[in-house]
Amino acid sequence: MRNTQATQLLFELSSPGRRAAVLPRSDVPDIPLDELIPAKYRTATAPKLPELSEPDVIRHFVNLSTKNMSVDTHFYPLGSCTMKYNPKRHERLSGLSGIVDLHPHQTEDSSQGMLALLYSMQQMLGEIAGLPAVSLQPAAGAQGEFAALLTASAYFRDRGETRTRVLFPNSAHGTNPASAALAGFECVQLKSTPRGFVDLEELKKNLDERTAVFMVTNPNTLGMFERDLPEVARMVHAVGGLVYIDGANMNAICGITRPGDFGGDMMHYNVHKTFTGPHGAGGPGSGPIAVRDFLAPFLPGPVIVQSTDPTGANRYALSNPAKSIGRVRSFFGNVGILVRGYCYLRTLGPAGVRAMSENAVLNANYLLAKLKDLLPVPQGDRCMHEFVASAKAIKESLGITAMDIAKRLLDYGFHAPTVYFPLVVAEALMIEPTETESKETLDAFAEAIRAILKEPADSLRLAPHTTPVSRPDDVRAARNPILKWNPS
Ligand SMILES: *Cc1c(COP(=O)(O)O)cnc(C)c1O
Repeated sequence: MRNTQATQLLFELSSPGRRAAVLPRSDVPDIPLDELIPAKYRTATAPKLPELSEPDVIRHFVNLSTKNMSVDTHFYPLGSCTMKYNPKRHERLSGLSGIVDLHPHQTEDSSQGMLALLYSMQQMLGEIAGLPAVSLQPAAGAQGEFAALLTASAYFRDRGETRTRVLFPNSAHGTNPASAALAGFECVQLKSTPRGFVDLEELKKNLDERTAVFMVTNPNTLGMFERDLPEVARMVHAVGGLVYIDGANMNAICGITRPGDFGGDMMHYNVHKTFTGPHGAGGPGSGPIAVRDFLAPFLPGPVIVQSTDPTGANRYALSNPAKSIGRVRSFFGNVGILVRGYCYLRTLGPAGVRAMSENAVLNANYLLAKLKDLLPVPQGDRCMHEFVASAKAIKESLGITAMDIAKRLLDYGFHAPTVYFPLVVAEALMIEPTETESKETLDAFAEAIRAILKEPADSLRLAPHTTPVSRPDDVRAARNPILKWNPS
């Protein structure tokens, strides 16, 4: 059972004088505090920190850790986010002292191992993308989009071209228009075909010499492969624009096809999605970008370059691309996540990476086949690594919404799928099982949905019933977060 008891704050559990550790009396002479920290740098009163025993603290945090869901505790089919299992071996490897004790200000000579690892990561990501030039700097997919759009801006500026518009389909992830606006572009949203694909007629109408970039996710946010992208790329290139592939859905196609081969000029990865970096709750991400050779001089720097020293050994160095847009992140990016992604790619190897995507697609299609009679899937009988079901008909007949199903799933011990995205599907439930889930888990999830749809709508409206918090006011929680403990 989940732990539902109310949690007090450490401050509320505090009792004066309680300690986790008791030190022996000092057997060396005291040094007056003023000699160590002059009075002007000290506060007059001690900070009000909680005072607790070690078991108090351990129980507090262990209990808190069971109040939420994670990939380690529950099936987590959150579409678009690729919440895949994070192998524990990567935690051990990325925690090796040779890695965690490195300081980013160390000399290149004393960080050759890390630079070699990051160089190899650049090479692997370039190969999987079919786009040769890689910058590991961006700290998330959204920052990768932003950095790539600035790279495109610098490229056009260098050519003396003024291009002001970024185009994207109406199924795009919200970060696409946000990145374009932040990078100074005008956003143009294109309607999709009734089946949710890029509409070539609509694209044609909107393409002209103002077009800088067409951004598209492939497989798209409905979990369908955009077959027309080579034609899309031909059209965008004909007006001098660039094609950006949002790589959040790479889990479906790694080792099978490559963005650079189906028309992309630029892309980002989400290492924390596709390559097992733990994520969720805004944790550290990594959003490397890969681009065509002619865009390489503009990439954010530094990037890692390889050379051969006089003895014939490989040497790695940091280098700023000639016309770089500059840094977008301190040091070398979120190295901890890159190391985990590196471990994953090295463990699987080329055949394993392809098998990963094939199994992700197989699992999603299995679940689609089990669910489609319960929850219609407007896009049809086949999908890539995820699919979007719709509760529209069920809402009309039974009064049960996508939100009700998502919330009730928490009581059944499943994290909810992504809901109400993409916006092009009414009452959307976007389901992505990932490759490591067993048939038993997928069957149990389908059974839970079947059971929920038999429950009365008015009790579903109050779900979840067993979680510490039931239905928070999402908007108010985001607008007025209470982040500070105020004892008064
Ligand atoms: C997750 C996601 C992004 C943004 O990536 P972050 O790493 O969360 O910044 C962009 N596009 C799509 C389709 C995504 O699923």
